[in-house]
Amino acid sequence: MVSPCDVPVGVITGDNVVKLLKHAKDNNYAIPAFNCTSSSTANAVMEAAAKYNSPVMIQVSNGGAQFVAGKSIKDKNACAAGSVALALHVRAVAPYYGVPVIMHSDHCAKNLLPWFDGMLEADEAYFAQFGEPLFSSHMLDLSEEPDEENIAICVQYFKRMAPMKLWLEMEIGITGGEEDGVDNEHVDPEKLYTSPEQVFSVYEALAPIGDFFSIAAAFGNVHGVYKPGNVKLSPERLVQHQAHAKAKLNSESDKPIFLVMHGGSGSTDEEIKTAVGAGVVKMNVDTDTQWSYWDGCRKFVAENHDFLQGQIGNPKGPDAPNKKYYDPRVWIRKAEESMIERCGESMTKLGCAGTYPVKKPADGSLPVYNFQPISHNPLKDAVKETKQFVGKLLGKSHCN
Ligand SMILES: [Zn+2]
Repeated sequence: MVSPCDVPVGVITGDNVVKLLKHAKDNNYAIPAFNCTSSSTANAVMEAAAKYNSPVMIQVSNGGAQFVAGKSIKDKNACAAGSVALALHVRAVAPYYGVPVIMHSDHCAKNLLPWFDGMLEADEAYFAQFGEPLFSSHMLDLSEEPDEENIAICVQYFKRMAPMKLWLEMEIGITGGEEDGVDNEHVDPEKLYTSPEQVFSVYEALAPIGDFFSIAAAFGNVHGVYKPGNVKLSPERLVQHQAHAKAKLNSESDKPIFLVMHGGSGSTDEEIKTAVGAGVVKMNVDTDTQWSYWDGCRKFVAENHDFLQGQIGNPKGPDAPNKKYYDPRVWIRKAEESMIERCGESMTKLGCAGTYPVKKPADGSLPVYNFQPISHNPLKDAVKETKQFVGKLLGKSHCN
């Protein structure tokens, strides 16, 4: 039994992120990073973490952020605004779940850098007020560019992120399949493996700036689900990356580098175990939780078909109401429940379930907001009066 990592609950940043990921690396577990596109999916992830006593990562992709902002918003800052909105939501409620949450942004290719800039601006503004960035970590994916350019861009951004101790995840080498519009389906298979030299060149460039970075190296991974057998996943190659770095650095650690795993959908338990043993501290999960979310909804609709064909009228009678079936809180909740179980499966597979016994806060002990009001707030008395008024009116808290 691993002794729990000493980090607080809620969104963690800076040294606490380093501490948690080092704890994962030292104790041979990895933290799943679930792609979230709504408050519902984000809550499902946090509920799963609480249920399975696990730290967790929530990540928002560029497309996911657009969805959070709203599909109709075409503003060039929509994706940045959507990511910020999700991060603020997670920050507001994460402490109630009693587990540490790493708030992360997913793949950012070169053409999406303005999105990255927008999130960094938000981080900097948040940092100026609260002494920590809004997000815990961000990912840059310049793997489509020549290595030299990829690394140079990462160095540039990492320098900007370093004063806030914002974690940087980067990718080098080609991951097959399709991710956010980049199609790598017809690439020479040997190119699907990153070399130890490539990985070390990243380490050499970033380590002088800070130790809070991780590398996604390609080892035959494919984004999205694929039929088993189509791709040869070779997580043992990650062992070579670590051995090479260890020799170069004369390091005492067998795993001097933080590695992350993309495109893990459909991989076997054995492959995951090898990857985690080789220093993978984070694994992306998207496709499988997408399915589970839908599957929960699908089952509900299948089981209650006759109650979902109109607002009124079901097998119980022509005038019987169906509100208890079509209320989004009912069928979306079924999707969440299904996703929670799938998240738990990932936590168990990656060995992080049970590593962080949930610390549910005492009822009412948390502040309802995590921002500081200005010191002389003229609204304060009015707020107090309204609160007293409503308190007397209702007698107790009422929320439905
Ligand atoms: Zn990737």
